[in-house]
Amino acid sequence: MIAHIFEYSAPTDLKEALGQLASGGKPLAGGMSLIPIMKLRLAAPEHVVDLGRIVALNYIREEAGTLHAGAMTTHYQIESSPLVRSRCPLLAEAASHIGDVQVRNMGTIGGSAAHADPAADYPASLMALEVQFRLASSSGERTVSVEDFFVDTFATALQPGEIITEVIIPVEDPSAGVSYQKMVQPASGYAIVGVAARITKSGGKVTKARVGVTGLGPKAFRAKAAEKLLEGTEGTAADIAKAAAAVSEGVESNTDLHASANYRTQMARVYAGRALSVAVSRAT
Ligand SMILES: Cc1cc2nc3c(=O)[nH]c(=O)nc-3n(C[C@H](O)[C@H](O)[C@H](O)COP(=O)(O)OP(=O)(O)OC[C@H]3O[C@@H](n4cnc5c(N)ncnc54)[C@H](O)[C@@H]3O)c2cc1C
Repeated sequence: MIAHIFEYSAPTDLKEALGQLASGGKPLAGGMSLIPIMKLRLAAPEHVVDLGRIVALNYIREEAGTLHAGAMTTHYQIESSPLVRSRCPLLAEAASHIGDVQVRNMGTIGGSAAHADPAADYPASLMALEVQFRLASSSGERTVSVEDFFVDTFATALQPGEIITEVIIPVEDPSAGVSYQKMVQPASGYAIVGVAARITKSGGKVTKARVGVTGLGPKAFRAKAAEKLLEGTEGTAADIAKAAAAVSEGVESNTDLHASANYRTQMARVYAGRALSVAVSRAT
C-alpha cells in the first residue's frame, strides 16, 4: 500500500528539529518500523521530521564510567563498535541479533526504543544494563530510567514533541559475564522470547544478577524474582534452573499467532536458563 500524503523535512540542527516536532511533526529515524506502518496506513502523520541528517545525534563515546550512544546510532554501529564490544558487550551482542544486515544498517537504537515493540531485542539488554534515556523537547531536557521509559506495548514515557537524544549505558564491570539468548520468530527475526543476563561473581558466589526479558509480556521487564533467587548462590546448574523457573513471575504472557502464552512462558524459562548459564560461565 501507499502511505497518505505527508509533509517531509530533514533538518540538520537539533533545535530546528525540536521546533518542528513541537508543532506536531513525527520523528523519522531509520524508518524500519515507521515506514511500514505508514504504508499499511496504521499511522498517517501529516509531517514527518527526518532526524537522519542531524550529525549530533550519531555518536558513541565514553565519559566518566558511562557509554553514551546518540539516538541515531545504527544497530550495525553498535554491533561493530570496538568501544561497545569492549565496554558493554551485552549491547553489541543484542544488536547483532536484530533482523538482517539491511535492518541493522538503517535501524537505530533510539528508533527501536521509542517504538517499544514488545518483541524487540534491545529492550531486554537495556533493562539488564540499567540504562537511562536522555530526552529532549523544545522546552528542555530530562533523563528517564529504562524501567520508567517502557510503559506498555508500543507505549513509552515520551511526551508529544519529545525525542530520545541519547542512551546512557553504565560501563560493564570487566569481570561480569553477559549473554543474550533469543528464540527467533523465523519470518521477522523478532524475539518470541529473548533473555539478557548479566552476572557478577565474587568469592565463588553470584553477587549481582540482572535479567532483562523481551517478547514474553506486553513490554520488556526485569525478572527481579529470578535475580533475587540467583544472588548469593554459587550459580550451579540447580541454582540457575530455580532462577529460570521464576523468570515469568508476575507477568501475563502474550498469546499471538506465533506462540501461545503457555508456550512463551515455557520458552522464557528455557532461554533464561541458557542466558544465565552462559553469563555465569563467562563471569570471572
Ligand atoms: C524486516 C524487519 C525485521 C526486523 N527485525 C527485527 C528484529 O529481529 N529485532 C528487533 O528488535 N527489531 C527488528 N526490526 C525493527 C528494527 O529494529 C527497527 O530499526 C526499529 O524497530 C525502529 O528503528 P528505526 O530507527 O528504524 O525507527 P523508525 O522506524 O524511524 O521509527 C520508529 C518509531 O520511533 C519513533 N522515533 C524514531 N526515533 C526516535 C527518537 N530518537 N526519539 C523519539 N521517537 C523516535 C518514530 O516516530 C516511530 O514512531 C525489524 C524491522 C524490519 C523492517
